[in-house]
Amino acid sequence: MNRKSFPLSRERLSELATRYPTPFFLYDEGAIRANARRLTKAFSIFPGFKEHFAVKALPNPFILKILADEGFGADCASIPELVLAEKAGMQGEALMYTSNQTPAQEFIAAKECGAVINLDDITHIEYLQGVCGIPELISCRYNPGPLKEGNVIIGKPEEAKYGFTRDQLFAGYARLRELGARRFGLHTMVASNELCNDYHVETARMLFELAVELKTKLGIRIEFVNIGGGAGIPYRPEQEPLDIETIAAGMRTAYDQTIVPAGLDPLGLRMEWARIITGPYGWLVSRAIHKKSIYREYVGLDSCMADLMRPGMYGAYHHITVPGKETAPHTETYDVVGSLCENNDKFAVQRQLPHIEVGDFVIIHDAGAHGRAMGFNYNGKLRCGELLLRPDSSVLRIRRNETMEDYFATLDFNSLTAFSAASQ
Ligand SMILES: *Cc1c(COP(=O)(O)O)cnc(C)c1O
Repeated sequence: MNRKSFPLSRERLSELATRYPTPFFLYDEGAIRANARRLTKAFSIFPGFKEHFAVKALPNPFILKILADEGFGADCASIPELVLAEKAGMQGEALMYTSNQTPAQEFIAAKECGAVINLDDITHIEYLQGVCGIPELISCRYNPGPLKEGNVIIGKPEEAKYGFTRDQLFAGYARLRELGARRFGLHTMVASNELCNDYHVETARMLFELAVELKTKLGIRIEFVNIGGGAGIPYRPEQEPLDIETIAAGMRTAYDQTIVPAGLDPLGLRMEWARIITGPYGWLVSRAIHKKSIYREYVGLDSCMADLMRPGMYGAYHHITVPGKETAPHTETYDVVGSLCENNDKFAVQRQLPHIEVGDFVIIHDAGAHGRAMGFNYNGKLRCGELLLRPDSSVLRIRRNETMEDYFATLDFNSLTAFSAASQ
């Protein structure tokens, strides 16, 4: 069991909402920092540990700055993500560039800022060589295919579009060495939102064993392995969170059984966990603005799927609570919905909840990763802003709401006027 909590009382929230009307995302800086420190401490049993937070999960430079303070780097997959990470003070090898179907200009930008380029495919070796040359330090992404079981979200590795096959990996490192690479990383990402401790340990073991094999067969010494992202969080209250200390200890045992006897110690351990870093410490704060009673009972919110698309896109569960009614009995069955003209715009379907009145706050939990970042503007919906609850309990706005001007920024209405006149 994990308790779903929200850091503000109903009174404090009402006060906050007079300054910043709902909906908004709220992140808890103190909890994010504490969580980051716990991760760093757990993995300090490795000689060279580095966490590269995947920027796509929460691309806000204030959050990235907090994570940079805590010693984290970033994992980027576009030029804007590189810029965000650099603005937050992350530089050079603190940046992984794990992209796929990568355009030439992205390779150039990643190389220029000294990010560790993580190649997704064997053909990208010659492509990168042609575009800007192979850097001294380079990493490759391994797709184990049928050698590793997949998980629900990312699917079976052999059906995933990412990475090199095993044979390609051996050929690839040999070619990279020929082209002048001298330092090598080895990456994989085989899971998403995975809640089994052992699964993550076995991923690390797979990479450790591969690093040993690359040494024996090719004489290539891998400097770090990177287990990618994919650590799950318990979206449902009855689920158990991962045990970070158990995972770290399990990985250390695997390291001692593989890397150490092969004489490859010290070897770095990197990861790109994101969901588990910020997910539980962010909330989408909304209000009920309508109630509707037809074949089912509906509660309509002032936010919608454009703010948080996971429930609509994956049917994902997000826990919902009503401030001030935490202990009220769950006497009602609601569909909690947004305003998009799409019937999958439902935050919850047939959910048991306390009686909700129009005007009640409705908190959507675990929205701190892959939340606002996945938002969109379909139906002309303007995404809401982001607030940061500071450790001194003040609140800082770290992103304003979108405005109509933002939505129209890519249009030129003067050109429309000319177009209309010319077509008269
Ligand atoms: C999305 C992604 C991550 C982060 O995944 P989480 O499930 O949030 O931990 C890390 N690395 C890569 C390459 C990704 O695409």
